[in-house]
Amino acid sequence: MFAVTILGNNSAVPTNERYPTSQVVTYHDRLFMIDCGEGTQMQIARYKIRRSKIDHIFISHLHGDHYFGLIGLINSLSLIGRVNPLYIYGSPQLKEIIDLQLNCAATVLNFKIIFTPLLPESTGILLEGKDMRVHYFNTQHRIPCFGFLFEEIKNKRKILPDKARESGIPAAYFSQLQQGKDCINKEGELIKNELVTEPPTPARKYAYCADTLYDEQLIPHIYQSDLVYHETTYLQDQLHRATQRFHSTTLQAATIALKANVKKLIIGHFSSKYEDINSFEEECKTIFPNTELAVQGATFCI
Ligand SMILES: [Zn+2]
Repeated sequence: MFAVTILGNNSAVPTNERYPTSQVVTYHDRLFMIDCGEGTQMQIARYKIRRSKIDHIFISHLHGDHYFGLIGLINSLSLIGRVNPLYIYGSPQLKEIIDLQLNCAATVLNFKIIFTPLLPESTGILLEGKDMRVHYFNTQHRIPCFGFLFEEIKNKRKILPDKARESGIPAAYFSQLQQGKDCINKEGELIKNELVTEPPTPARKYAYCADTLYDEQLIPHIYQSDLVYHETTYLQDQLHRATQRFHSTTLQAATIALKANVKKLIIGHFSSKYEDINSFEEECKTIFPNTELAVQGATFCI
């Protein structure tokens, strides 16, 4: 399973039943949290997210609507007995903020926080496992801000079990087949790899573009992603206000999705001034039809 679940989709002020930004990416049985606005713990409970499975938390930037829930979550994880280290990624001052909050309360956590600072204007790979890698990249906001790309690693070929059996290849050789090697069967014949395997399925990608102005420099980072989240704080008639506040409008987000040739766009970070958010989807669809609202509780499979 590779999916993203929306916990909060509002900007600055929690309102209209909408919580500030937070999402959880699920990859098989591992959970990765992106941003942790105020109230995220309540949303975790509401949508039955297994919080003990969250080992990595990525904070895009230090505006409160993206991290005011973090210290509460850290505290709760300790109270419920977490012992595994928690990996947190964010601007360098985030570490100072967390330490200050813990020190003021004389709180000693049961687990270690392993903090990776994201330096302004930097970009690269934050995390790389056997089957998943997480990149980060800059977005254009009033303070340093980062987007994240979750990319599957698929380098094993798929074995066609019936064909492999017919060709008399013992199961012990299957891992060699997955690596693309040819094999000798029980009769001593050379079996070409492509006869018994298929190329790996294409690696899937999810890109989270955080808070940002309209910025075509995002395009190479998110190019051809299966799913992209882009903020739409305002409808198009508020273009001026969006630009002033380093945010994007509906048509700007849709244009980025179109130019980046992505499969699907989800939109969020709605300004508190909007009670009804359906027009956001309608406006985006005039440019990029495969757009959906990042509704709280929704899970988008990638
Ligand atoms: Zn924000």
